[in-house]
Amino acid sequence: MTRTAPLFTKVALIGVGLIGSSLAHAMRRGGLAAHIAGHARSPETRARAAELGFCDSMHAEAADAARGADLVILCTPVGALQAAAAAIGPALKPGAIVSDVGSVKTAVIRDVGPHIPEGVHFIPGHPIAGTEHSGPDAGFAELFDGRWCILTPVPGTDEQALSTLIEFWRGCGSRVEVMDSKHHDLVLAITSHLPHLIAYNIVGTADDLEQVTQGEIIKFSAGGFRDFTRIAASDPVMWRDVFLNNREAVLEVLGRFSEDLSALQRAIRWGDGEMLFELFTRTRAIRRSIIAAGQDTAAPNFGRNTKTP
Ligand code: NAP
Repeated sequence: MTRTAPLFTKVALIGVGLIGSSLAHAMRRGGLAAHIAGHARSPETRARAAELGFCDSMHAEAADAARGADLVILCTPVGALQAAAAAIGPALKPGAIVSDVGSVKTAVIRDVGPHIPEGVHFIPGHPIAGTEHSGPDAGFAELFDGRWCILTPVPGTDEQALSTLIEFWRGCGSRVEVMDSKHHDLVLAITSHLPHLIAYNIVGTADDLEQVTQGEIIKFSAGGFRDFTRIAASDPVMWRDVFLNNREAVLEVLGRFSEDLSALQRAIRWGDGEMLFELFTRTRAIRRSIIAAGQDTAAPNFGRNTKTP
């Protein structure tokens, strides 16, 4: 949908990697901002972002990007959000909305909340969309299309500011759901954080196996292992910060996972084919539900377009 007027006069992106640059592209496509200001930590990223041209201005200081903005979105790794919020706090305009895209929400509320001045609306968010690529070159306008964005407003959040942020994410192509931050962290622990941990672990184990050479792993990598390597290629800084900041929820689901894995181990040891067959049938139905809900395709290679960044 093309808008007649931008939703915001100025939007600031603090961090212009995969998510920040994708937001800039999506905002341009949707005509959501009259001016997009960007900030990145390193001169290299700022220079590359300026070259790619998805922001109208690039700033060495986060506060300069955020000054006068109606919407500021923090798009750095979770562990860097507290310092980013402290840097922009004094520059924020009264009535502005501050949000973020961090994969963890309760820790972000703890770290960012105290730096947001009175009269500025802080509404945490998390787009459930991504790839294993990082940096300003990785972004593309369609990243959020048809994907969910979860907003986790704190009690007492201004309704008008929340509606405006929902409209923003819809304008970027997302579907929006609102939930409590603790529930978000538990849901994401099982749907995203644990699968990444398993992928990091299985690829690490394969790498450590003494009887199988690294050459053999690469040469004979079957579909299953290949898919794990894609997930395990995700950004190490981002994922370190996710596990450090969603500790309780990850440990809770990891406990359940370990118990269920022991049950599978027992079934294999005792030749309990019925148990294995029953589980594999149940899990196949979940895959079909995900496809039916439009969150993936049934195309071969998991519908992955090898040309997509
Ligand atoms: P990314 O591609 O690595 O980009 C990170 C950006 O933050 C870069 O501009 C980087 O600047 C900047 N940055 C990094 N460390 C910083 C620091 N200490 N201080 C200031 N700026 C810093 O990361 P991303 O994938 O866009 O992820 C950004 C956020 O989105 C994370 O919080 C992540 O949890 C969340 N998220 C990611 C995904 C995903 O699939 N990747 C999905 C949903 C949400 P330099 O390049 O100059 O270091």
